[in-house]
Amino acid sequence: MAAPSSYDVVVVGGGVTGAGVARDLSLRGLSVLLLEKGDWGAGTSGASSWMIHGGPRYLEYDWDTTRLSCQDAGHIVSIARNLVYRVVFIIPVLPHDRNNIERMETAMEVYDRFQPLKHAHPHRRLTAEEAREAEPGLAPDVIGAVTMEEWGVDPHRLVFANVQDAMAHGARAMNHTRVTGLIRDAGKVIGVRYQGPDGAGSEARARAVVNATGPWSPELGAMAGVDIELRPAKGIHLVYPHRISNFSISAESIDGRDLLMVAHAGFTLLGTTDDDFYGDLGSVEVQEDEVDYLLQAFERVFPSIRRYRAVRTTAGVRPTLYKWRRYEDELSRRYEVIDHSTQGADGLITIAGGKLSMYRLMAEETADAVCRKLAHEAQSTTATRPLPGNESDPAPVAELAARCGIPAMAVVKLQGRHGSNAEKVLDEGATSRVLCRCEPVTEGELIYATRHEQVRTLADAFRRVGVTGGPCAGAACVMRAAEVVGRELGWSASQRFEAASEFVRGAWLGRAPVLGHSGWAQEELAQGSMRGLLMGNGTR
Ligand SMILES: Cc1cc2nc3c(=O)[nH]c(=O)nc-3n(C[C@H](O)[C@H](O)[C@H](O)COP(=O)(O)OP(=O)(O)OC[C@H]3O[C@@H](n4cnc5c(N)ncnc54)[C@H](O)[C@@H]3O)c2cc1C
Repeated sequence: MAAPSSYDVVVVGGGVTGAGVARDLSLRGLSVLLLEKGDWGAGTSGASSWMIHGGPRYLEYDWDTTRLSCQDAGHIVSIARNLVYRVVFIIPVLPHDRNNIERMETAMEVYDRFQPLKHAHPHRRLTAEEAREAEPGLAPDVIGAVTMEEWGVDPHRLVFANVQDAMAHGARAMNHTRVTGLIRDAGKVIGVRYQGPDGAGSEARARAVVNATGPWSPELGAMAGVDIELRPAKGIHLVYPHRISNFSISAESIDGRDLLMVAHAGFTLLGTTDDDFYGDLGSVEVQEDEVDYLLQAFERVFPSIRRYRAVRTTAGVRPTLYKWRRYEDELSRRYEVIDHSTQGADGLITIAGGKLSMYRLMAEETADAVCRKLAHEAQSTTATRPLPGNESDPAPVAELAARCGIPAMAVVKLQGRHGSNAEKVLDEGATSRVLCRCEPVTEGELIYATRHEQVRTLADAFRRVGVTGGPCAGAACVMRAAEVVGRELGWSASQRFEAASEFVRGAWLGRAPVLGHSGWAQEELAQGSMRGLLMGNGTR
């Protein structure tokens, strides 16, 4: 084992919270080590609904969370302009809904007071005709509707932008690196033991350790002998590889919960469930009855929903703070910064609960607690300091597309991920070849991500640049992606095929719950062509 390295702070967990904490502390001048056992944003953050929102639902029982969330969403939207886009909802009202149109509009009037905090527009009330004109797929018995504006975001890129900025300010950040134990001295937590991607063990000493492991935080707390009580709640989504509606749409489920069909930039997320979770956090699976629950609700407001083909599902576990006897949906989305010194584990600080939409505020308060402990006086600057790629305006799309010889849509996507750094990314990759017909990612971007953005697997490549994210779901591009990543990482031919097969196996788990009859046939074809490719290359 190598000699232990030494930092002011070790942050455990590379979801949005941990990445935000690492960024905040690095900007304040502290030396930081950030460790993530999987990939950046691959936990709950990546499985979210991809929204920076205020949560009008919480107005009924937790007004303050809506306010804080809207306030922080406003900051996030300003520092991450290239990563966010407006998402406009139509909230239709049907006969027998829990809320009639007057109640819905009253709720939106209250929410409108918070909307300016996050630079969003107030609601509009629509007649049944106006609603169906805007959204022809709505059910014929819609009584009326209200609109609501939120923001969409790519959480994987948001997490990585925070990691990037932390590194630019001196932090060391390692993915595929699991913390296996905490080092203690007379009860005090003085560092971590961790295992890197090659399986080798190391130690790092620190003046403070931050537990930002989301739903895993009780597990990390147990390493220091402290109890952290959460009420973890599972949520799933169905993913459609294109827009299936003009607007995002909400629907009431059979048990009265509000569900959302979110029309993101080039795909649709339909979700989400919210169920107490008692299982293994390492294998959160989507069940077919959960899929039916979502489709049943949307069929009522959007009758053609079952005609569209979902290509995969996502599942995540909310790190909700513990509370006994509340229906899951009504649990607060508050967060708590816990200094464990009173529990005999001085040096360990946990950040638990909260939402993606207020990760920056959660990170700031956690960093404040760390700085108090270390008697370090610097203030947070993350509310106004732009994330990488937002320091200046990006080049005009048409100009960049012509100069680099790539489709305008590829430029739009590239700038969405890298903002004003898009040109640098293209220049370094030195190839404008597009990897997939259905998802315009250039080989150059993937080369850049492998060299500079810690891509180690094809699943990392999906998270960093969206490769395999289109309608082919990887069938047409996974082998090419393996070639590109493999060339950069020095994989042999058989390692490239193994990486592609591993990706296909992983993707299959998320796809199986949404395969109907024709889906299974298509899957057989895709698997068959994959086997053909493997044999054609003489590796099987
Ligand atoms: C279905 C669903 C939809 C949601 N939608 C939204 C939404 O649209 N908007 C919103 O604001 N919020 C949403 N949320 C909530 C939001 O996603 C979470 O609150 C937030 O992402 C939690 O981030 P985190 O960093 O705390 O946890 P995570 O993202 O889970 O990060 C924790 C990280 O710690 C790592 N880790 C764990 N143990 C170790 C270890 N021993 N060593 C190293 N690393 C470790 C994990 O691998 C993980 O990556 C949603 C949640 C769910 C489940």
